[in-house]
Amino acid sequence: MKRKVRVRFAPSPTGALHIGGVRTALYNYLFARQNGGDMLLRIEDTDSARFVPGAEEYIIEALRWLHIEIDEGIGVDSSLNSHGPYRQSERRDIYHQYVKQLLDSGNAYIAFDTPQELEQKRNEIKNFQYDASTRMQMRNSLTMTAQEVKNHIDSGEQYVVRFKVNPDEDVHVHDLIRGEVVINSSIIDDKVLYKSADDLPTYHLANIVDDHLMEITHVIRGEEWLPSAPLHVLLYRAFGWDDTMPQFAHLPLLLKPDGNGKLSKRDGDRLGFPVFPLEFHDQKTGTVSSGYRESGYYPEAVINFLALLGWHATGDKEIYSMQELINDFSLDRVSKAGAKFDFEKGKWFNHQYLQMRDNKLIAQEFIPILKEHGVNPEIYPAETIEHIVGLMKERVNFVSELWEQCNFFFVAPTEYDEKSMKKRWKEDSPKHMQELLALLKQQDDWSAEALDNLIMPWIAEKEYGVGIVMNAFRICLVGAARGPHIWEITDVLGKEETIRRVEECIRRNA
Ligand code: GLU
Repeated sequence: MKRKVRVRFAPSPTGALHIGGVRTALYNYLFARQNGGDMLLRIEDTDSARFVPGAEEYIIEALRWLHIEIDEGIGVDSSLNSHGPYRQSERRDIYHQYVKQLLDSGNAYIAFDTPQELEQKRNEIKNFQYDASTRMQMRNSLTMTAQEVKNHIDSGEQYVVRFKVNPDEDVHVHDLIRGEVVINSSIIDDKVLYKSADDLPTYHLANIVDDHLMEITHVIRGEEWLPSAPLHVLLYRAFGWDDTMPQFAHLPLLLKPDGNGKLSKRDGDRLGFPVFPLEFHDQKTGTVSSGYRESGYYPEAVINFLALLGWHATGDKEIYSMQELINDFSLDRVSKAGAKFDFEKGKWFNHQYLQMRDNKLIAQEFIPILKEHGVNPEIYPAETIEHIVGLMKERVNFVSELWEQCNFFFVAPTEYDEKSMKKRWKEDSPKHMQELLALLKQQDDWSAEALDNLIMPWIAEKEYGVGIVMNAFRICLVGAARGPHIWEITDVLGKEETIRRVEECIRRNA
């Protein structure tokens, strides 16, 4: 019987969710949606020492912001949660029985070696590994009688449970991206599966037990987990769960922009771009790391950008909505090689989404920025602000950059850019502007066409030169040699304000 596709995103709450983790979540989500399956969110918090308060809430908020919807698990209405709890720290009792099962079947054993004893062994034996070649020299239930083991435990001694890996056996992992990966079991150590000190399993055991009980069909995760996959295969086998073992897909690493090494959490603000979806305030260190949301990215742009970091479709299409990604995504077009984190491309995506965005929405986003700069947006008709952002958005990647581009629409120049003046404000400019003023003052039809028909013949007749007059005119209106087409500016400013600015400019620069 074909099983329903079920995938999970299983982060550890050890800080802000790295952008690579977001991509893992996204690929899981796309795969689930494409196959009519379920997307689970499980929190892997068995390493209590690395727990960071607020990290779980951060993960939930980040996925929500990006519209990566979770069907089951943490952050979801509990009536849908039939396989919980989904926080590993709440599943202790469940793990106990599986630790016992492995001990009873001889696939695991109890070990009492203290950290000091292990350290000593490492000093004695070069490249020491706790495995078939060394385990019989250690203090564990394989080298002690049952009574001795019991006595140690009864006396309160701490212990761990280790997986008993049979040596010299080829372990095959079939990876949907990498194909067949074969590893000899002799290089795998007898991994700790459970620690009595905190009464918690380690990642490996909890992960396998949960994936099994939660009926996960596909494990899609970062490449850093590939070395653990053979061990996981052996664990499935030891439990007798080979038949329902999930299929694996290990995603390529995200690399630093120069391709040298893995993109780390520390790279972001060091290299000048966010590596986290949302701004993160680390309560432990008091540091703040920037986030895509607070940097002004649209979630759709971040999704599109991340989707193409490691996956590409057949053609050269680059702009994908979430629905298009769901339709087109496929694991076999995920590359094996690491994906360079091209941050400039991220900005390019935001630019594209800004161009496609309804000007009404952009205007709403721009209004708080106007207020910050002391502009009262209420004195402008809504359409004016929409028109202005529509005119200027082509020049920016983010709404936050719009002010710089279009402040002159809202605030008359109070100073005039030195460089522009030097180059474009000629000796005759005040005279030209006086004449222009006289023409403008008599003009009632303020349309671009009418103004053009009024001004151009006058310039031609006087042989002033279009560039010379229009550049000076622009300086009057903008305060610098920049901005959109001049008739776009006069259109927004209107007759009165245009005239006022020209008069003011002459007064100051005559
Ligand atoms: N908790 C692991 C992590 O933080 C999950 C790895 C897996 O998906 O198996 O990445």
